[in-house]
Amino acid sequence: MAPLSPMMQQYFEIKEQHKDQILFFRLGDFYEMFFDDAVTASRELELVLTGRDCGQEERAPMCGVPYHSCDAYIARLIKKGYKVAICEQMEDPKLVKGLVKREVIRVVTPGTLIEANMLDEGANNYIASIYVEKERVGLAFADISTGQVFVTALPLGDLSALKNELTRFSPSEVVFNDALLSFAEMGGFLKDRLRCCADVLGEAAYLGELPNRLITGQFGAAACAPGGAADEPQVAYALGGLLHYLHETQKTGVERLVSLERYSEERYMLLDATARRNLELTQTMHSGEKRGSLLWVIDKTETAMGKRLLRRYLEQPLAHPVMIEKRLNAVDEIFSDSMLRLDLTERLKGIYDLERLLTRIVCGATNPRELCSFAATLKKLPDVKQRISGCRAKLLAEIYEQIDPLQEVAALISEAIMDDPPVSTKEGWFIRDGYHAGLDEIRRMLTHTKEYLAQTEAAERERTGIKNLRIGFNKVFGYYIEITNSYKELVPKEYIRKQTLANCERYITQELKNLEDKILSGRERLVVLELRLYEDLRNRIAAETSRIQQTADALARLDVFTSFAALAAEKDYSRPQITTDGSIIIEDGRHPVVEEMLGGGARFVANDCTLDGDQNRIAIITGPNMAGKSTYIRQIAVIVLLAQIGSFVPARRAVIGVVDGIYTRVGASDDLSTGQSTFMVEMNEVAQILKNATKDSLLILDEVGRGTSTFDGMSIARAMLEYIADRKKLGAKTLFATHYHELTELESLLPCVKNYNTAVKKRGEDITFLRRIVPGAVDDSYGIEVSRLAGIPDWIIRRAHEILADLEADRPISERRATMKAAPERQDQPEQLALVHDSPVEDAMRRLDLNTLTPLEALNKLYEFKAML
Ligand code: ADP
Repeated sequence: MAPLSPMMQQYFEIKEQHKDQILFFRLGDFYEMFFDDAVTASRELELVLTGRDCGQEERAPMCGVPYHSCDAYIARLIKKGYKVAICEQMEDPKLVKGLVKREVIRVVTPGTLIEANMLDEGANNYIASIYVEKERVGLAFADISTGQVFVTALPLGDLSALKNELTRFSPSEVVFNDALLSFAEMGGFLKDRLRCCADVLGEAAYLGELPNRLITGQFGAAACAPGGAADEPQVAYALGGLLHYLHETQKTGVERLVSLERYSEERYMLLDATARRNLELTQTMHSGEKRGSLLWVIDKTETAMGKRLLRRYLEQPLAHPVMIEKRLNAVDEIFSDSMLRLDLTERLKGIYDLERLLTRIVCGATNPRELCSFAATLKKLPDVKQRISGCRAKLLAEIYEQIDPLQEVAALISEAIMDDPPVSTKEGWFIRDGYHAGLDEIRRMLTHTKEYLAQTEAAERERTGIKNLRIGFNKVFGYYIEITNSYKELVPKEYIRKQTLANCERYITQELKNLEDKILSGRERLVVLELRLYEDLRNRIAAETSRIQQTADALARLDVFTSFAALAAEKDYSRPQITTDGSIIIEDGRHPVVEEMLGGGARFVANDCTLDGDQNRIAIITGPNMAGKSTYIRQIAVIVLLAQIGSFVPARRAVIGVVDGIYTRVGASDDLSTGQSTFMVEMNEVAQILKNATKDSLLILDEVGRGTSTFDGMSIARAMLEYIADRKKLGAKTLFATHYHELTELESLLPCVKNYNTAVKKRGEDITFLRRIVPGAVDDSYGIEVSRLAGIPDWIIRRAHEILADLEADRPISERRATMKAAPERQDQPEQLALVHDSPVEDAMRRLDLNTLTPLEALNKLYEFKAML
């Protein structure tokens, strides 16, 4: 076989090190991909697949993208789950003979992005590292784009704690040690649930002293010392492994990770993946959009840093009354002083994303214009800081201390970079005049030489008598003198002809060449010098990373507290009273999202709630479908959750006994798409709840037991309620919405159970939902009336009434034919005539698409009719 060309040899050597990545191989102005990479990339990016001679008989498959627009292509590949290795030319091809040196300077992976256009400004982008050893698991979560790292350790148990943490951080990339591979279900969880890119790290990442050395190098010796963030072996391995991976894949950027925090999950409310989904914290359950989620309603932040922190707060409510009170105090102080609130909102506007700008500065990925935005933001800091001076709330005082005005950093940038600089550094001319004497000198020379050129043009015109003699410039020939054909005879003989055009000739002279050399070399020196000054400036800013980070943290918190205050003012929320006695008392509570969705026209009906550890531990809520049961029980959960993130709540008054966790089981139709048996999914979730909840938890159970036959379902639901009610078994506060009226008799049997129902006004066959939750049970589910509201044909409604009457009287169900005789006028209506026969009824029912018919719940009765037919 013929030997490979030298460049192809070089390619293969590099590719060998980056097997599972798509290699972007820099060739002049393009990044080229070869062989399998080329085939993959051409398919995924819709690029033309060509070939390149590689020294062998067959040409190498190849495709490429221009280097200046590579970001968009890389972003698309990353989105599709690929990793991209960027291989650059390390030498200037003009200055080297033969093969240029090439190196991979960065591996772009989903968890290590720094580019603004590839990131969601409102969400952190985490890479997670998991280290499993014996019965414990160490976890590290890092966001390179913001410099934050969080670590913790958990018991391995049945993996539910691990899954909860992973769901909460929702990393886009996960690395882990071999031991995790023995849990087969984790593979599916990472791929299908988290949809992240997952890779096992080789033993080399955890060898000997390496993890501790990396951690000490990054965060200082204290991190590994007793009591330090990484003093537990599993945590140190997880964090060390992560740093190893980052050093392997990123040439720059790892130094950006400056803030390391060890957290313990006990400080936070337990919210499992199901509860997050059911309560629609950051996205809606069905469409997955932010619109319609709780975050969508409560987000009044002004900065990207605040947006991300608010999301973190929401995903991690507190369980510690003192910490909650501290936040509420800060929010209250801003809320109570409307001038302060408006001023802060105003001053936070236009504050740029310091965290991510800083990352790009540290990684050398920033441009002069971004630096100007950075400086502009820094200039706003003293104003923000001054506005909260004298605030009494402890957290506000802390924020005041933490905001470092960083004015000398702002001055540094303003002195160095000119106003309105170009985006690119390639051509120079972005450093301010007067910043550097050497640069000023070069610029003076360049300006002077250009003036001299103009003078030369005038002098040559004079000397030769050619009136339209002109000096021009192009990239191929440099400076030239252009003379139209009509003056051809007057051209002096020392002019050297370079180019002939249709109506003119172009010449050069020795003098012009000398000037040109001077200008071109001057330009080159200018660019090099400006880049060096820029580099210098960047390093000086990067040296202040921890001060800037600390300020960014403080701004984020101030933004979130201001956002809570603005929300409370705008939507009439009130400060919850936080207690530890376990009772939840809400007066005129509202569901923030349903309220928002109703818009201007319809009014949301507020409702009360009393739950405590004693006589009111379990509330059973009955009532017809669509009357507002789910909305009500979720609204209680959402109000408790909002209180525990430190926000005011949508209620006239709320006393919130802090809960240690919220658990939910909602809706029977939600999991249809996963193909699992609905009943199995339901029971699985309930089993998890019963295992993990404590007497201090809040349970939201909606229609539990309806995935099976009526008697089975009711029996399970009742046994479950008895179990929850028993203090010795569980004793958690519970809101239980159900169809099974039979369950309401529990009120008379168990002292902690109270019945409620959704009030309905009935007139004849019409019903109106009042949306009021009132004490007591209802004995009618109005199923038939609700079916009517949903548009079920009259014939079926009447027939249903007949059947119901028979059932209630405990007699055999009467013949359908009798019903039809009683309604002879329908014979002449063809589509209803069809209903006389058995199979068309069944057909009609079968044709109903239960998934798209709204409300789905209303059709439940129909299932029963169908069973009776
Ligand atoms: P159920 O669980 O009883 O079937 P939902 O809670 O799903 O009923 O409520 C059905 C619809 O009724 C909601 O989508 C909402 O539009 C409306 N709704 C519910 N509660 C209220 C309320 N308190 N005030 C106004 N509208 C409400």
